[in-house]
Amino acid sequence: MIIGAHLSIAKGMSKAVDQARGIDGNAFQFFTRNPRGGKARAIPRAEMEEFRQRRLLDGVKCVVGHMPYTINLATNRPDIHEFGKMTLLADLERFNEAGVEYLVLHPGSHLGDGGRAGIERIIDALTYVLSRYQGENTLLLLETMAGQGTEIGGDLWEIKEIFVGLGWPQNMGICLDSCHLFAAGHDLTQTAGIDHLVDELDRSLGLDRVKMMHLNDSKKGLGSGADRHAKIGQGVLGVEGIGKIVNHPALRDLPFILETPVADYQEYAEEIRLVRQLRTA
Ligand SMILES: [Zn+2]
Repeated sequence: MIIGAHLSIAKGMSKAVDQARGIDGNAFQFFTRNPRGGKARAIPRAEMEEFRQRRLLDGVKCVVGHMPYTINLATNRPDIHEFGKMTLLADLERFNEAGVEYLVLHPGSHLGDGGRAGIERIIDALTYVLSRYQGENTLLLLETMAGQGTEIGGDLWEIKEIFVGLGWPQNMGICLDSCHLFAAGHDLTQTAGIDHLVDELDRSLGLDRVKMMHLNDSKKGLGSGADRHAKIGQGVLGVEGIGKIVNHPALRDLPFILETPVADYQEYAEEIRLVRQLRTA
């Protein structure tokens, strides 16, 4: 299976490859820049080149960049909207050069203006970005959200609206998040609930648009709307729920990335071992 965790590239992209292998992962995710600010570390070309070779040698099959939380393409603030567009385009271009497979983005929050207005602003921003981005390595993925507050993307049909508005671009897909989906009302503790989700994904977006999953347990209950990640097996999804998710025929081949609360990345090793144990042949 393809599995890994959210790591840091602050000390170099190859350092994250070492860390991924150290926790028995063959994938990893990282923040493209400061998650709560937006300042980026310039990554020298030599570092990218070394990373491309190292990941091949070490069998790292999937590498994912995550955009900072401060990017909000659904905002009515022109400065923030503009910053989001520029930052997204810049990060797609630089991580395309590093050969990163996916770049994950939270669709955005409308902050009280209503979903329709928010979706229009997201479409507007992504039209700008995707008409300029020429890369072929990195796909842009919209993440399914818990639907907390005025967040867009708690409902799969909102994400579909964005794809429709953009004319179904080829270089775009979606990233599932097991905690967010559960909080948004999809009962992933039951096989019937997962079947229902898969069916809805297929009808709204098409299963081939689903490229990966953030594998997180949830601190809060089904339909809570609260985005609170728990460690694998220690939340409401539990060991059984996580086992059903990672073995479901429609989901099992997705790359799984853990974003569970840890004090140190090495704690992911135990969670990855647990998920590997839950996986049946
Ligand atoms: Zn996310």
